Amino acid sequence: MNRLESTIRCPVCDMTKINRLLRWNYQGVDHYFCSSQCLERFKSHPHLFVGDPQHGFSPKQKNQVVLKKRRIRLRDAISDELKADLETSLQSLMGIEALDLTDQDVYVTYDLLQASLEDIEKTIEQAEARLSKSMAVQVKRGLIHYSEECELDNLAHLTRGGGYH
Ligand SMILES: [Zn+2]
Repeated sequence: MNRLESTIRCPVCDMTKINRLLRWNYQGVDHYFCSSQCLERFKSHPHLFVGDPQHGFSPKQKNQVVLKKRRIRLRDAISDELKADLETSLQSLMGIEALDLTDQDVYVTYDLLQASLEDIEKTIEQAEARLSKSMAVQVKRGLIHYSEECELDNLAHLTRGGGYH
């Protein structure tokens, strides 16, 4: 690794651990990002991160932080399983400052420069989808077990009853 490479930072979150595959050229300069979340954030609002002669330094270059607080109410009560998943998956987003989960609400504080409500909602939806998928699999397994039990019952019944004549 050369010296230049070791000082490359993700322009969105400042992390030095960048992914060289996540590259985007903006105004003739290559930028490298730590995550696709940061790349998308940069792509949709590059002026937040890179200054220009007309407007001077960007909010990010001025170390500005735009904290947003949101309450996101879910349709159903948050199960312990979903809560555990959300704690992990939301904390792994960039720019999450605080997180509090109640029975039905997600309270989240985030830096708008790094994360959007859309990122957060998408993460919640993905966690819900993961959970309902695993529940669907469980229900399906339950049904298979149930029908096999019935079959065994029937077999036992047939055997016990000596069959039908
Ligand atoms: Zn980043």
